Amino acid sequence: MSSEVYDCIVIGAGIQGSCTAYQLAKNKQKTLLLEQFVLPHSRGSSHGQTRIIRKSYEEDFYVQMMHESYELWAQLEKEAGVELYKRTGLLFMAPENGEGFSRLKVTLQRHKIPTVFLEKQEFSQHIPNVNLRDGYGALIDTFGGVLYADRALRAVQRLFQSSGGVIKDGEKVIDIAPGAVVTVTTGSGVYRGRSLVITAGPWANTLLTHTGLQLPLKVVKINVCYWKEKIPGTYSVGQRFPCFIEMEPKEGQYDIYGLPSNEYPGLMKVCYHMGSETEPDERDKQTDTGDIDILVRYVTRCLPGLVPVPAVVESCMYTVTPDHNFVLDSHPTYGNIIIGAGFSGHGFKFGPIIGKLLSQLAMGQVPSYDLSPFRIQRFQSHPRSSL
Ligand SMILES: Cc1cc2nc3c(=O)[nH]c(=O)nc-3n(C[C@H](O)[C@H](O)[C@H](O)COP(=O)(O)OP(=O)(O)OC[C@H]3O[C@@H](n4cnc5c(N)ncnc54)[C@H](O)[C@@H]3O)c2cc1C
Repeated sequence: MSSEVYDCIVIGAGIQGSCTAYQLAKNKQKTLLLEQFVLPHSRGSSHGQTRIIRKSYEEDFYVQMMHESYELWAQLEKEAGVELYKRTGLLFMAPENGEGFSRLKVTLQRHKIPTVFLEKQEFSQHIPNVNLRDGYGALIDTFGGVLYADRALRAVQRLFQSSGGVIKDGEKVIDIAPGAVVTVTTGSGVYRGRSLVITAGPWANTLLTHTGLQLPLKVVKINVCYWKEKIPGTYSVGQRFPCFIEMEPKEGQYDIYGLPSNEYPGLMKVCYHMGSETEPDERDKQTDTGDIDILVRYVTRCLPGLVPVPAVVESCMYTVTPDHNFVLDSHPTYGNIIIGAGFSGHGFKFGPIIGKLLSQLAMGQVPSYDLSPFRIQRFQSHPRSSL
């Protein structure tokens, strides 16, 4: 074991761990970022070319965090000298008189988020080639858009290293010994840190076992489906087609979302916002395609310009909490172990602000937002949590 003691060790170089490590290094903390796979990899939750970014949430706390997250993404773009965000607008479609849509509208108005409300009769003029369901309302969050995910992850890791941070990839953490100085053992080394941040995505509970904690997290495999445009360009970024989310679609229990064709020319990404449970190390053994059946029916009804058979299917994982809110907290027993987990399929856009919050916790500072919605305490009555 080396005598070197890091100010902080971060486990997991997905978007949350990488952003946290970067914030720590920027704050002059001697930081080690450990990753089990050789980087870049496609086995967790942060790979792939694109993610949706938006300010439009029903909950005030997410809207507030997204205000700052947009600023931090812009700052990252400047620091890295690369484009990470493409503004396309985000179309929301939802039952017009439903609770979710009403809450969303109220929150958007309260926070003065620039929004365009589309009346049924003008919908197809603004959004051609999309069938809006009867009884559904539509609005556009004009700041919604696409984040270039792979590029962002690489940029943050590069910035971390150029700020003095150390990345060791291909090093799987196999043991954690809590204490005033935490000892972390990987397959090829033993490292010590005054604080530890666990941002292990789908593997969060595997690592937390070493600390006597289990969270009520469900890991699901997402079939990431790309659909061929019948006429190339119909739903493209170039044609200013927006990202979209349909709440309460007729075809399934969870939202369906899509991004304009971009990364694969002529192919549009449309996905179901839930999947079937899986073990993170055995993701590809999960072969359920129930979500694809839902999407085929949805594409047939709603997106007539797409061939209703997926042309490309990739895999990714969500780590879902019972209330779909994140876990951003200190370990209930070991105050110098910080946990960022359960990003429930919507955490990428928050990466920079989550990095800031987790780094504040790791440095023993008061976090700059009220973290009560993200506390571990809220799971106390849940059967799978052991606090
Ligand atoms: C298909 C799909 C679409 C999505 N769309 C959106 C979207 O449009 N907008 C949005 O905001 N979010 C979206 N998300 C969610 C977002 O991508 C995730 O919330 C985010 O990437 C989670 O990042 P993470 O760092 O927590 O996890 P991960 O990216 O999984 O990172 C965890 C890392 O920890 C490493 N690790 C685990 N165990 C160990 C160990 N023992 N030792 C060392 N390293 C370890 C893993 O290898 C991994 O690299 C989407 C997710 C998916 C799957």
